[in-house]
Amino acid sequence: MAVSITEALDIISHTIVPLDSEILPIEISVGRVVTQDYVAAFDLPRFNNSAMDGYAVKVSDAGQTVKCSDVIYAGDDPKMSLVRNTAIKIMTGAPIPAGCEAIVPIENVSTSGDNITLPSDIQYNGFIRMAGEDIKKDTVFLRKGEMVNAYTIASLASQGITHITVTRQIKVAVFGTGDELRPHFEKIDAHQLYNSNSPMFLTRSKALGCEVRFIRTSADTIEALEASIRSTLDADIIITSGGVSVGDKDFTKVAFTNLGMQVHIDTIDIKPGKPTIIGSIGKTVIVNLPGNPLASMVNYELFVRAIIRKMSGRTDHQHATVTTTMRSDFSVRGGKHAVVLGKFDGESFEALKTQMPGMVSPMQEADGLILITPDVKHLGKGAMVKMIPISWEFTGKVKEDLFTR
Ligand code: AMP
Ligand code: MG
Repeated sequence: MAVSITEALDIISHTIVPLDSEILPIEISVGRVVTQDYVAAFDLPRFNNSAMDGYAVKVSDAGQTVKCSDVIYAGDDPKMSLVRNTAIKIMTGAPIPAGCEAIVPIENVSTSGDNITLPSDIQYNGFIRMAGEDIKKDTVFLRKGEMVNAYTIASLASQGITHITVTRQIKVAVFGTGDELRPHFEKIDAHQLYNSNSPMFLTRSKALGCEVRFIRTSADTIEALEASIRSTLDADIIITSGGVSVGDKDFTKVAFTNLGMQVHIDTIDIKPGKPTIIGSIGKTVIVNLPGNPLASMVNYELFVRAIIRKMSGRTDHQHATVTTTMRSDFSVRGGKHAVVLGKFDGESFEALKTQMPGMVSPMQEADGLILITPDVKHLGKGAMVKMIPISWEFTGKVKEDLFTR
C-alpha cells in the first residue's frame, strides 16, 4: 500500500539506525558525524590576554601621562606587575600582567619618548580577552550527532584534540536494471540506451560523503538480479533503478524479496516516482528507485538523502525548507502529491518549464524542489512556496511541514 511522502520520511527516520563508529584524526573527519559529546578540558583563551596592540594600564591613570619602559609580547610569560603612574606596552594575544586593569589601544594614546598620555575614558577590563570567554572549561563544545566541518575542527584543534570518534563512512552500492541499458563507455546500437542513473547515484552519494561501488547493470531476469544483489549485500545501502513498475520484466522487487528483503515502504504517494520501494536485508538498506531518470532523482533527493543523514548519525537529519516566492506563473495538473523542480536565485523560485519523469536534461538545472498537495493547480507569480534545496544541504532537528499548499 502506498504511503504518503511524510509517512515515508517518518518510516525512514524510525527504521534507519546510525552505523557503528571509528576513530579518525581530526584532519580527515570533515563531513563525518561525532558519536559523543566533546567537553572542554581547559578554558579558551587559557589566560587573560590583550585584544589589541596597546598599553596595559590602571583605570585610575585615565587622562594622565605615565611612564612606559617595558613591553610584553605574545608568547611571553610576564613576571612583572603593573603599578600606578606606569604603563606596559603589550601586543595582541600577550598575557595580561598582574595589576593591569585595562588595555588602551596604541591608536588612543599620544607618546613622547617614554611618556604616554592616556585617554580620559578607560573602561575597567577594556580590550582584555578573558580566560574562558570563548570556550569555558568543562562545557560541551561539540555535541553527539553534529557534522564536522572546518570550523568544528578549529574548536577541536584549539583544545589540543587529535582524534575523534565518528560514524564510519557509509558504503553505497549502485546498480541499474534493464536489458536496454549499456555503460556510457561502450558503443551502443540505435535501440539501446546509456545507463545514466548509475553514474548519477554514484557521484551524488559520493558528494554526500559515502564510499561508493559501481556494479554492472543487471539484465531483466530474476537470476541476473539475484546475482547482482548477492554481490552487493556487504554494502550499507543498495540503490537500484528500474524494474519496479508493472511491466512484464519488472522483477526487481521479486528478486530482492527472494533474497529476504523486508519491505518498509512499498510505493509512495508521489508524482513522479510512485513505485519506489525501501526495505532491508539484514543490516543492508535497499532502495529500489524507478527507472525514469528524473523520477529516480527526485526520490533520491527526498528519501535517499534522508537515509544517508540518519545512517550517518546526524541529529539534524530532517529536510529543512527555504521559504521563497514564485518568480513566474506555473500551472500543474493537480490531483497528486507532486514534486516541482526549479531554479533558485536567492530571492525567488523559477519552476522548470519542462520536467517529465523520463527526462535527463532538466535535472542539472534544479537547485531545489517544492512539494505540492493535490489541490494545488496553479502557483501564481509571487506566491509563497517552500523549497527543499538540492544544490546544498539544508537540514534541521525538527520535522517541518514540507508542503506548499
Ligand atoms: P523501468 O522502470 O525499468 O520500466 O524503466 C523506466 C524507463 O527508465 C525506461 O524508459 C528505461 O529505459 C529507463 N531507465 C531505466 N533505467 C535507466 C538507467 N539506469 N538510466 C537511464 N534510463 C533508465
Ligand atoms: Mg526496466
